Amino acid sequence: MIKSVLWLALMLTCSAAADPLHIAVSIIPQQYLVSRIAGDLAHISVMIPTGHSPHAYEPKPAQMVSLSKANLFFSIGVSSENTWLPRFAELNRNMTIVDCTEGIAKIPMKSHHHEDDHHDQHKLVENQGALDPHVWLSPRRAAFISRNMLTAIIKADPANAETYIENYKKSASDIMMLDMKLLRLFSQTTGAFFVFHPAWGYLAHDYGLEQIPIELEGKEPKPRDLALLIATAKQKKIGAVFVQPQISKRAAEIIAGEINARVVVADPLAAEWMENLESVARAFAGELKQ
Ligand SMILES: [Zn+2]
Repeated sequence: MIKSVLWLALMLTCSAAADPLHIAVSIIPQQYLVSRIAGDLAHISVMIPTGHSPHAYEPKPAQMVSLSKANLFFSIGVSSENTWLPRFAELNRNMTIVDCTEGIAKIPMKSHHHEDDHHDQHKLVENQGALDPHVWLSPRRAAFISRNMLTAIIKADPANAETYIENYKKSASDIMMLDMKLLRLFSQTTGAFFVFHPAWGYLAHDYGLEQIPIELEGKEPKPRDLALLIATAKQKKIGAVFVQPQISKRAAEIIAGEINARVVVADPLAAEWMENLESVARAFAGELKQ
């Protein structure tokens, strides 16, 4: 009894002193970038938990409760947000919704690589307007994301601005170092890598690599597409097909089997964003020609 009274008193004092900043984000890698800036000055909640695809996720009731107490929501442009954002805004009118991708030049989502001309034209038309949402998977784009986060965090909690800026500087310099590392890593490589879900378009774009997706606009390839992919993989001497843990890899396994390649996991949603990006980049580099 005494214990619980003490607890209550403690909780009341804490909340009276200063409510910590509560920041909600869509995906796990954003949590890494936010916590590098906010440290333990903010409570961070992630809407899409481990193992779920960010392209269609329905938040659980407990997440909606937690969201109702958030000060900031950092959107990243994953497709689930299209249905979420109006609801979130309605649920918590005190929450500021911040677009973390502001200032990032988005590139078109790449479809299959096809050798035949007719098919290429057809795809170009289909893909008009579809921009690649996977902006967090390149250090240069992540630098923009971090900067946008910093601005919003300082606005929400100006009292701790100095700490946030200090933390941000360290994070930004680590991100820049990673960019340099990857520049060096890919400076001598050429060729293409095969992925099931085309999540690595920005990495490919920023370091001059070619990403060939197996999936076609979010769907498994049809037999005709599969045959084309297998021919392309053979011609390009592909040794590995990269898959992500959140998505079924049946088509990737079929192709890998046909061309005698390995299936390798590359996670676009890992919690240790920086470490993961470097190790995935090393795995890609290992498959490219030197
Ligand atoms: Zn994706």
